[in-house]
Amino acid sequence: MASKKNTIKLQFNSSRNLAPAPESKSVAKIADKYDLFINGKFEKPSSKKYFNTINPANEEKLSSIAEGNGADVNKAVVAARNAYEKIWKKTSAKERSKYIYRIARMIQERARELAVIETLDGGKSIRESRDFDVPTAANHFFYYAGWADKLEYAFPNRKPQSLGVAGQIIPWNFPLLMAAWKIAPALATGNTVVLKPAETTPLTALKLAEIIQEADLPPGVVNIITGAGATGAALVNHPDINKIAFTGSTDVGKIIQKAIAGTNKKATLELGGKAANIIFDDAPLDQAVEGVINGIFFNQGHVCCAGSRLFVQESVYKIVLQKLKDRMESLIVGDPLDKNTDIGAINSKQQLDVIQKYLKIGQQEGADMFQSSCNIPKKGFYCRPTIFTNVAQSNRIAQEEIFGPVLAIQTFRTEDEAIEKANNTPFGLSAGVWTDKGSKIFNMTSKLRAGVIWANTYNKFDPTSPFGGYKESGFGREGGLHGLEGYLKV
Ligand code: NAP
Ligand code: MG
Repeated sequence: MASKKNTIKLQFNSSRNLAPAPESKSVAKIADKYDLFINGKFEKPSSKKYFNTINPANEEKLSSIAEGNGADVNKAVVAARNAYEKIWKKTSAKERSKYIYRIARMIQERARELAVIETLDGGKSIRESRDFDVPTAANHFFYYAGWADKLEYAFPNRKPQSLGVAGQIIPWNFPLLMAAWKIAPALATGNTVVLKPAETTPLTALKLAEIIQEADLPPGVVNIITGAGATGAALVNHPDINKIAFTGSTDVGKIIQKAIAGTNKKATLELGGKAANIIFDDAPLDQAVEGVINGIFFNQGHVCCAGSRLFVQESVYKIVLQKLKDRMESLIVGDPLDKNTDIGAINSKQQLDVIQKYLKIGQQEGADMFQSSCNIPKKGFYCRPTIFTNVAQSNRIAQEEIFGPVLAIQTFRTEDEAIEKANNTPFGLSAGVWTDKGSKIFNMTSKLRAGVIWANTYNKFDPTSPFGGYKESGFGREGGLHGLEGYLKV
């Protein structure tokens, strides 16, 4: 039964006439041009080609970025191999650990600059890059620095050994954080690295290259090669790579899996998702609604584990829907550098087109669309927070990853029905359960096919917790003790 307090309509001031509170851009030192980071130095690309990275909030150019090709990838892999054989393999675990700590501290020292650059290059709100991306990236380096000299304890009697050279490819939704997720455990386990950031968000990885240079990490231990998909493919197909760590779409994940089939390359693939948030009628509804809002609108829905499907128990459906709409009306969409902004810019024109295509598909499929009525800037790429009701299980908006601030809402009557509906997708990355009953949480978490399940909270991350998926969401785990294993022979 819904408690009485749940029937009171929440009052939000939808206009929220707050004075602008922009973070200053002056801390962000962005060069006009960036080269490839190979063997400890910035080197010109052999193609002599550069591409632009823009600010998706206003479509202005931020910098020119080197386009690495196969020859550059080869140079970087050779540098990584030499550094591995001649230096890093022989460096004591204690010394490796010191370098990783140093990188962590330097990220903390430059946190403000990194947060502003992350927001400028990718469009995410400054609140998020400041409070989540950058501190969590530093925490991953701190956490894995601690493991470097304790691998024998992590894997007792299994003689853990490094693999060699790791090729790492990351997406645009958490650029610095994904680089940290990849580089920190690789270094802690004694591997060397060639990392390719996403085309639209290369800047913080290049800033990290500067930090790595200043930290005096031996040349070649970390190499950063910018470019597009072809650069990533050259890395995947290079014969002297021992491990591929990829985070990105399921489509590219499949291409990579085919490319490395029959080779000795080890792989971890962190792919897409279509997570379900499930609200039972005994849940604390206001918290649940806040969790759902955070789960899908956080980072413009550019989150692999975004709670993009919502299942609400029928008896509380009306009230939950009303609360969701009220809360959506209070969200501020706009300048990502403004500290009041809840939802920043969509990462690229291309991604905005994808989202708009799905908004059309949802309506054509017969679902009802509701968007908040907020103003959005004329220039730049923006999308109002959107929900769909009257959604069928088979609808594409309920099955496919949209990767935007779009939520598909359905109802259920029983636990079994919720489990069946939630599991009815090709993905299995994450889920959320909202209920007052511990027994229900245990029942749901044991039957939901998802790598990560949050109970009465959503999108909580910690370097100590492993993260990864089932089914088309990929395989292997990153984070925690499990995150070490992908970089070791045990
Ligand atoms: P994407 O298109 O798969 O790209 C990911 C990375 O792969 C980019 O650096 C991309 O380069 C590169 N790439 C493209 N084609 C390639 C190829 N043939 N071979 C090797 N590399 C290639 O994904 P995205 O659009 O950037 O990111 C969104 C996706 O990432 C979503 O599906 C999301 O669910 C997933 N994701 C998953 C997790 C997780 O932990 N499971 C976390 C975050 C994101 P370009 O950028 O230059 O194209
Ligand atoms: Mg950009």
